[in-house]
Amino acid sequence: MKISLIIPCYNEEESLHPLYEELKNVTGSMPNYDFEMIFVNDGSKDKTLSILKEFAEIDERVTYISFSRNFGKEAAMYAGFCNVSGDFAAVMDADMQHPPSLIPEMVKILETGEYDSVAARRTTRTGESKIRSFFSRTFYKIMGKISDANMMQGATDFRLMRREMVDAIVAMSESSRFSKGIFGWVGFKTYWLPYENVERVAGTTKWSFWKLFKYSTDGIMSFSTTPLKIATWLGILFVLGALGFIGYAAVCAIMYEYFSFIGLHFTIGLILLLSGVQLLCLGIVGEYISKMYKEVKNRPHYIVAQTNKKDIVRR
Ligand code: UDP
Ligand code: MG
Repeated sequence: MKISLIIPCYNEEESLHPLYEELKNVTGSMPNYDFEMIFVNDGSKDKTLSILKEFAEIDERVTYISFSRNFGKEAAMYAGFCNVSGDFAAVMDADMQHPPSLIPEMVKILETGEYDSVAARRTTRTGESKIRSFFSRTFYKIMGKISDANMMQGATDFRLMRREMVDAIVAMSESSRFSKGIFGWVGFKTYWLPYENVERVAGTTKWSFWKLFKYSTDGIMSFSTTPLKIATWLGILFVLGALGFIGYAAVCAIMYEYFSFIGLHFTIGLILLLSGVQLLCLGIVGEYISKMYKEVKNRPHYIVAQTNKKDIVRR
């Protein structure tokens, strides 16, 4: 039985040593399994790559895949999935916020044969700002309502899964990737393993608020077409409103011979409102078209500059 661990790293020079020590302990406590650690260096600007090379030198289980620039965590995870050779594979963050000590338990659950994947779920959000928690919770609520990629509140990217599920994920080759949605979309039976949130061991978060906001709208657009329907609903609403106004104006004109009840300010307001709504709808349509444009170009997901793996899969 072989287990592959996929670890995306972006400027993680400070966390890599503690992580590797912990991984050595955990893998050492599971002598019946073979391990493979796939570190994906996502265009780090610090010493991440040289540290990974060091690991690879002393430990033959270590594979590093180094990108030519920062392609984002999603691309890094995809590169990992494409190059998995184990029967089970897990993705985990480099900062130990996804505790490696959970791996033995996850493996045990998969081995009962009842589940295809074990996903870690945070029950707390300690160390995270209130605003970020609020937006994050709201995002999951909206997503749950408008898409069919069944997502769990507090779900993380930390998952152990069977090879079959990995192959399904690799087959989803879309370029706007949103893993939490993809994991849900491919189906399979998932066991949710609750754990307490831990703060990152060193360094700082690689996600700014803006990057997260973009990521979440990407997620919504990739797994739901509900925003497109907003245009239709607003259109219907405004047509009904307009008909009401016309009717009212007609009645006023006939019964009271009173024509100028709509003042200038009101007219300007109405024009601004309607053009705003039109622009909004056009923007939503544009977002989807830009997504299609990106898919159609069919560019590679990532470009590998250096690696110690022989026949590496590039996609
Ligand atoms: N990461 C990456 N590319 C990026 C941003 C992040 O590979 O462009 C990696 C990062 O090195 C870490 C994981 O993704 O292993 C999660 O990032 P981080 O801990 O900064 O996110 P947070 O836990 O704050 O959500
Ligand atoms: Mg983190």
